[in-house]
Amino acid sequence: MARGTHLWFNGKIMKVEETKISPFTHALHYGTGAFEGIRAYKQKRGGGAVFRLPDHMKRLHESFKILGFKIPFSVDDLIRGGVEACKANDFEECYLRPIAFLGDGPLGVDPGDNPPVDVAILIWEWGNYLGDQGANEGARLKISSFVRPHVNSLMTKGKISGQYVNSVLAKREAKSMGFDEALLLDPEGYLTEGSGENLFIVIDGIVKTTPLTSILAGITRRTVLNYLQTKKIPVVEARFTRDELWCADEIFLTGTAAEITPIKEVDLRPIGKPGATVGPITAQVKKDYQAIVRGELELPGSANWLTPIR
Ligand code: PMP
Repeated sequence: MARGTHLWFNGKIMKVEETKISPFTHALHYGTGAFEGIRAYKQKRGGGAVFRLPDHMKRLHESFKILGFKIPFSVDDLIRGGVEACKANDFEECYLRPIAFLGDGPLGVDPGDNPPVDVAILIWEWGNYLGDQGANEGARLKISSFVRPHVNSLMTKGKISGQYVNSVLAKREAKSMGFDEALLLDPEGYLTEGSGENLFIVIDGIVKTTPLTSILAGITRRTVLNYLQTKKIPVVEARFTRDELWCADEIFLTGTAAEITPIKEVDLRPIGKPGATVGPITAQVKKDYQAIVRGELELPGSANWLTPIR
């Protein structure tokens, strides 16, 4: 994972080692930050472009609104910042990590009405999030002993830093037991999502994904739903249980980092036909997703999905 040498910090491009962050930063103590994960891809017609950059920066603003504060840069400022941060580093393809957080101010749980807000956009190179084997042959999942918090405990529509402790616990538990990723149930026992991905299953040619109620509204999820509708592949958003998941013909995860990751096993139960590798719908979505992010395949409404880096 090569890191960029430069980042965008509070409106300026800087060298990473010149960034100073105080130990009195409120977010360091209480998790009062919000972040995004975005990818930039090499394009078919040359150069690079950032995938759905405005949608990610809009979600960053919404996460901060959910947290109860305002980012001191507009969505357009952040879009320009993202492009500048890519340009300041010399990667062919990269991952962008915008983060806005309450900075050095009052250190009580209540940071006061106008705490300082810092905003950074970091860049690094990130390969297959669930490993090359997971991406190509299918990853192995475990339903976590950790449960997604009730919708009135943590705000799942916000990509809020402190909330990720739940994901860290689940992911580390799954990995320590030899699995690639954790799936979390909601407090009523229905499937929600992975520690950093949304969840799709296929049963008898119908694609099913968990409803927005208790999950992060993934931008990759939205892209996949648009794609499935365009291809007239039937899709429903509905709750399902772990036994339905175990019996699915196909399972895949979606996320900016994980892209489209096929799943070959859940709770030690193989998924799909014995000996089969990636199922047909998963394989099609995975292949076409790569074409969409590289400007090789357009969908209705996708005209502004690729922001050129220039
Ligand atoms: N759920 C969670 C909990 C996540 O952290 C992510 C990654 N941002 C996703 C789903 C997928 O979201 P996206 O497709 O926007 O990356």
